[in-house]
Amino acid sequence: MESSLKHTALLDLEAIRRDFPLLSRKVNNKPLVYLDNGATTQKPTAVIDALTHYYSYQNSNIHRGVHRISQDITVAYEKARETVQQHLHAAYPHEIIFTKGTTDSICLVAHSFGKKYITAGDEILVTEMEHHSNILPWQQFCEDNGAVLKVVPVTEEGTLDLKALETLLTKKTKLFALTHVSNTLGTINPVKEIITLAHSKGIPVLVDGAQAVPHLAVNVQELDADFYVFSGHKSFGPTGVGILYGKEKWLQQMPPYQVGGGTIKRVTFAKTEYADLPLRFEAGTPNIEGGIGLAVALDYMNNIGMDRIAEYENELLVYATKQLSVIPGLRIIGQAKNKASVFSFVIDGMHPNDIGTLLDQQGVAVRTGHHCTQPLMDRYGIPGTVRASFAFYNTKAEIDILETATRKAVKMLA
Ligand code: PMP
Repeated sequence: MESSLKHTALLDLEAIRRDFPLLSRKVNNKPLVYLDNGATTQKPTAVIDALTHYYSYQNSNIHRGVHRISQDITVAYEKARETVQQHLHAAYPHEIIFTKGTTDSICLVAHSFGKKYITAGDEILVTEMEHHSNILPWQQFCEDNGAVLKVVPVTEEGTLDLKALETLLTKKTKLFALTHVSNTLGTINPVKEIITLAHSKGIPVLVDGAQAVPHLAVNVQELDADFYVFSGHKSFGPTGVGILYGKEKWLQQMPPYQVGGGTIKRVTFAKTEYADLPLRFEAGTPNIEGGIGLAVALDYMNNIGMDRIAEYENELLVYATKQLSVIPGLRIIGQAKNKASVFSFVIDGMHPNDIGTLLDQQGVAVRTGHHCTQPLMDRYGIPGTVRASFAFYNTKAEIDILETATRKAVKMLA
C-alpha cells in the first residue's frame, strides 16, 4: 500500500499514515482500507502517547487537590479547554464545557436550556437530515413538556429546503437545532446564513458539529452559533469525551443539568449554591485523559492545517465520485454541491449490508445501514446506504481498492 500511495501536493501522506498505527493493520488477510471515519476516526500516536503518559505519570483527580500532581493535571486539563476554545474560536474558555460527546452535549442543552426557556405550545425546529442524537432529546423534551417538534424538509439532492425553513422559523420557535454536516449525505449546510436568518427572528441556534470539526475550520463567533457541539472520537481524539460550546449569555442563565461533586460553591441541606462556568455543567470526575487527548488531536489537525485538510478531502470526494458513480446500478445518496468527504450510495436490487459484508472480506471497512438517520432514510424510501467516509489519511489508492472491491461485490450479488 505504502509504495502505491498517490501523492498530493497538499499533504505528506506517507508521514501522516505512519502516525496512525491502526492503518497498517491487516483485516481478513488484506491491508485495511479504513473508510468508516464518520463512525469514528483512528488516533495518531501523539494522542495514544498522551493517554499512556497520563496513566503512567500524571493520573490524579483535578480541581480539588492541593498536592503537586493534582495541581499539575488541573493545569493541563484547563489548558486543554483553552486549546478547544482556540480551535473553535470561542470568546472565553468558560464557554467550553467538557461532556461525554455530541449526544451528551445535546441532551445537556435540551434539559437545561429547554427547562429554562421552552414551555408548552412553543416549537423546537430540527431538520430531516439530523442524526437521531439531534432528534430524540428534542422529541423527548416535547413529549414531556408539551412543546412541538417541527422539521425542515430535505430536497431530493440532499440540501435543506430553505424556502420551507423561512416559514418554519416562527414566533413560536424557541430553538433551531441543525447539523453542520450530514453524516449520511455529506451535505455542508450553510449554517452562517441560516443562523443569520434565525437570529433576525430572535431564534437561537444549536449546531451539531460532529461531522464538521474533523473536516472543516470552525469559527463559532463568525458563525454566531449559540451552541456548537462535537465528539472527540470523530476528531482523532479519545472516545468518551466531547464538547459543548455555548455563548456565555446562555450558559450563565441555564440551570445545571447533572449535579453533584464539582458543580458547587457551597452545599447545605437547606440550599446549594452552584459553581460558576464551566464547572457548573461538569458534574463528577470528568474524562480527564480524554480532554487532554482531545486537545492533542486538535493540535495534530492544526499542524496539518484545517484548510489543507478540507482541500485534500475534497480531492478524495471528487475522485471517489468520479470512480464509483459509473458502476452500473449505483446511485449516490446526497448530491449537494457543497459536501464534506462522505460518499453514500445504494445499488439497485442489493442490500447495503450485503455489499458492506463483501467489502469487509476484501479489507474495506465502510458503514452500512441507516446511520442513525432513519427519518432521512424514510425520506428517500430506502432501508439504508453504503457509506464510505474519508479522512485526511485516506488515499486515492484506497479509493481504487474501494472501487474494485465494490465491482466485485456487485458481480457476486448479481
Ligand atoms: N451527530 C452526528 C451528525 C453524528 O454523525 C453523530 C455520530 N454518528 C452524532 C451526532 C452522535 O455522536 P456521539 O455518538 O459521539 O455522541
